[in-house]
Amino acid sequence: MRVDCSGPFCVLRSIRRVCDGERFPLPSPPTMASSSRLAPVPRPLRNGLPGAIGATPLIRIESLSAATGATILGKAELMNPGGSVKDRAALHIVEAAEAAGLLGGKSGVSEIVEGTAGNTGIGLALMARARGYRCHIVIPRTQSAEKLDLLRALGAELHLVDAVPFANPENYYHVAKRLAEERRAFWADQFENPANADAHFSTTGPEILADAPKLDAFICSAGTGGTLGGVSAYLAEAAPAVQSWLIDCEGSSLENYVNHGSLDATGGSVLEGIGIRRITGNFGRAKLHGAFAGTDREAVEMAHWLLKNDGLFVGGSAALNCVGAVKLARKLGPGATVATILCDGAQRYASRLFNADWLAEKGLVPGATDLTFVA
Ligand code: PMP
Repeated sequence: MRVDCSGPFCVLRSIRRVCDGERFPLPSPPTMASSSRLAPVPRPLRNGLPGAIGATPLIRIESLSAATGATILGKAELMNPGGSVKDRAALHIVEAAEAAGLLGGKSGVSEIVEGTAGNTGIGLALMARARGYRCHIVIPRTQSAEKLDLLRALGAELHLVDAVPFANPENYYHVAKRLAEERRAFWADQFENPANADAHFSTTGPEILADAPKLDAFICSAGTGGTLGGVSAYLAEAAPAVQSWLIDCEGSSLENYVNHGSLDATGGSVLEGIGIRRITGNFGRAKLHGAFAGTDREAVEMAHWLLKNDGLFVGGSAALNCVGAVKLARKLGPGATVATILCDGAQRYASRLFNADWLAEKGLVPGATDLTFVA
């Protein structure tokens, strides 16, 4: 075929060899060997939703590393398909239930029920769609509008309940258990189901260690304790020199429990998805070297700090985790490598954490110009 270069717009006109392609054979296209600049970078295909969960990047957080002289790393769990660390728990809980004959297959059970502050519900709602199950989520009505809207959009059936203490039979945990019994559905029970921490033992922990072989310490907060329980148990076995620490929010019992053996706690936190006043089976698996307490003010300042200085738009629990990483880096001294979890993104909390009216109402307007806000 002859290329017609007679028109006014032919971009090839100057390339005689191409224009005269009939007389001079066209050069073969560049191969990987002849042009490494153009060579595609092989990356494994991910199979469906389950395959897309995990293998998240470990991000060196530049501002925190520079300010502490440490290497502070955030595992970007906000990059999971459902946008949070809880996708891993949802995947492993569903697959363990299927393997145990409690869900799908010949079990005759095709509904999942869970009581959740949001992110586990989002992960389960996606897994339910991928597998063809129905998903019922019992959730306190105090959770952010963004999370409730998202759960509805994913097709989950929401059962809104009041936010009442665990001892009250109307607490979302007990309501979910009863609902599962009534419907003969599978109750995910993320607090006690070992598949939750197993997910982090078998994936999150090994991924962190693979990406940070010089890791000195890991720290994160706890909601069910699955992340901390699984990662710390993995590190204790695979890399016993690596320390694991808890950073606990206001109103939670766990810091008091780890440091003083008491579950006493008062007050509450604006941070969603973390803080608990009992020892769950998943938290009970944690192998810890110590615990810090962090405040709502520290977390809110950190969320704004990370956006302003690093372009990282993370939710409140992720921000508290970074507060913990700074505290731990200071304790370990310059040169230490500390990893934490960026549990989810701030899109889910834009009407709160990044809303001027809400911040003013809570007395949490941020204004830090350096990291002295971390006590
Ligand atoms: N951050 C957020 C935003 C969460 O939703 C959760 C789970 N409730 C956590 C942290 C804590 O994770 P885990 O349940 O593994 O302790």
